[in-house]
Amino acid sequence: MPVHTASCSCGQLAATTSADPDRVSVCRCLACQRRTGSVFGAQARFPADSVTISGVSKQFVRVGDAGSRAVFSFCPICGATVHYRTEGRGEYIAIPVGAFAEPAFPGPTVSVYEERMHSWVQMPEHIEHLE
Ligand SMILES: [Zn+2]
Ligand SMILES: [Zn+2]
Repeated sequence: MPVHTASCSCGQLAATTSADPDRVSVCRCLACQRRTGSVFGAQARFPADSVTISGVSKQFVRVGDAGSRAVFSFCPICGATVHYRTEGRGEYIAIPVGAFAEPAFPGPTVSVYEERMHSWVQMPEHIEHLE
C-alpha cells in the first residue's frame, strides 16, 4: 500500500513510498538553499527498497564540503528535484518534503548547518542539532 507520493511540479516524475520515513531533517547549508530556492531544505529519508520511482529524470551530482557526493534526480521539464541519494548511503533514498505536498507529513527531528541559518528562521523546540 502506498503511504506517500512525491512528485515534481508538472507531475511526470514521481516517487511513491510504501513506508513512513526513517528520518526527516532540515539543512540550511548554502547548497541546499540554492537547490531549493528556499532558505533551507527539508528532506525525508526512506529505505531504498520502499520507494518506487516513475517518470523521466536528469541527474546532478553535488560534491559536499567534506567531499561526499550526492546525486539529485530532477524533472527535465519543470526542474523540480524529486529524489536523491548520497554516495556510500545507497540503502536510502531522500525525498524533499515539499514534493509530497502533504501538510500533515511528519516534521523534522534533525537540523543541520545551523550557522548558515537565516536569522528569522526558527526550528521546533526539541529538534536535534548537528554540526
Ligand atoms: Zn516536472
Ligand atoms: Zn544542505
